[in-house]
Amino acid sequence: MRVDLEATRALLAETATWVDLWKAYEKAVSAEGEISAETRARHKQCAALAETLTPMVKYCSTEMGNRVCYQSMQVHGGVGYMKEFNIERLFRDVRITNIYEGTSQLQVVAAIGKLMSRSLDPLLAEWAAAEYPADMAAEKAALIELTAVYQKSVDALKAQQDRAKVDYYACDLVDQAVWLVCGWLTLRDTNVSEDKKSIARTYINGIGPKLRAAAEIVQGTNAVPLDAIGALIA
Ligand SMILES: Cc1cc2nc3c(=O)[nH]c(=O)nc-3n(C[C@H](O)[C@H](O)[C@H](O)COP(=O)(O)OP(=O)(O)OC[C@H]3O[C@@H](n4cnc5c(N)ncnc54)[C@H](O)[C@@H]3O)c2cc1C
Repeated sequence: MRVDLEATRALLAETATWVDLWKAYEKAVSAEGEISAETRARHKQCAALAETLTPMVKYCSTEMGNRVCYQSMQVHGGVGYMKEFNIERLFRDVRITNIYEGTSQLQVVAAIGKLMSRSLDPLLAEWAAAEYPADMAAEKAALIELTAVYQKSVDALKAQQDRAKVDYYACDLVDQAVWLVCGWLTLRDTNVSEDKKSIARTYINGIGPKLRAAAEIVQGTNAVPLDAIGALIA
């Protein structure tokens, strides 16, 4: 639960940074006078990243909140269900967060187009080129490998001609993007705090199997579930 929470907080802080930068560049490009090509390019990049990360973090944090409250109530056992502890209230209140202000499914719809235009590539390249503590080399290597797996999934979905399949597999692609970005961010945090190493190790080692499974689903784009819908709901 702690690792899930910290990884999501890292994504929230990163998203807020890009939204703030976008707003600052928005002011710069709408000011009077000549605007340099460099400022315009930076404005465009900040806008693309803010628009990609915002639905990702709304999706990721509200789903995480539901997951963590569920697990926390389970840890408390029967007393967690009763009113002795705050978890009973948190469990009820968190349920709406992935419904209002845009459901999780609509956050996926908002993020998928951006992800398919490879809007995360500049960030992923920057993080892969950065330096991290020597004892985090295995985690960095794992993230480089998972970045390639994710990019193959983006290419597979981009090559998909059937719109229904793109919609159907969008969630599996957004999940990969969320895990990957959170993985890099937890690794980046190890440059500033020794305490973050156990968070990063646990998170990055945990996402490998999940990300590969989601990639297999997207890259295989199995038609069976979509073909079966008519019969299943008849
Ligand atoms: C307590 C509470 C407070 C609220 N406060 C406000 C408020 O202050 N202001 C305001 O404007 N609204 C408010 N709402 C409304 C809230 O924003 C909507 O309930 C929410 O956006 C979901 O819309 P809907 O209920 O019409 O569900 P629907 O749009 O009917 O969606 C039903 C289900 O279908 C899924 N779905 C819909 N479209 C797609 C798609 N294209 N692809 C995949 N899945 C899809 C959704 O994810 C959802 O799971 C509030 C709701 C509640 C319960």
